[in-house]
Amino acid sequence: MQSDPPAQSNATAGSPEYERLRAENRRYVETFDRSALTAAPLSGMAILACMDARLDVEEALGLRTGDAHIIRNAGGLATDDAIRSIVVSQELLGTDEVIVIGHTQCGLEGRTDADIRRRLVERTGREIPLAFGTFADVETSVRAQVDRLRSHPWIRPVPIHGLIFDVETGQLTDVA
Ligand code: ZN
Repeated sequence: MQSDPPAQSNATAGSPEYERLRAENRRYVETFDRSALTAAPLSGMAILACMDARLDVEEALGLRTGDAHIIRNAGGLATDDAIRSIVVSQELLGTDEVIVIGHTQCGLEGRTDADIRRRLVERTGREIPLAFGTFADVETSVRAQVDRLRSHPWIRPVPIHGLIFDVETGQLTDVA
């Protein structure tokens, strides 16, 4: 897999893992057959989920490319930016149902913003007003995200579900 010349003093040169991913894409292109898909998701679903690497949203829900909007961030939180994406999803691309997915063993569960902030200030000497969205309990968090979406004036009055993914069994459980 060493077909490309080694990049020298190139700002985009990556780790061996990055180069492996680029090689995977070259293989992907050879069999790519999804050019006929439109941007509007076929299932009408917008899904807000935690970025956790153990949660494969498509796999867990049997979704295929083109089926859904999947918006991910640390914690699966209904941040302003997640809301921005859901609004675009609804207004411009016609989705009409929302699923919020948290999960067991989340990295944000049981931590505090103060702890994360302390580490960053120690490392950088800079204080920045950024919220990390840590939470004590994932069930409470998922309900709060669903509540925020349901009460947001720009989110349409569509069905909004809250689920928790068990990273040990793969099971999804309704909590909101
Ligand atoms: Zn998580």
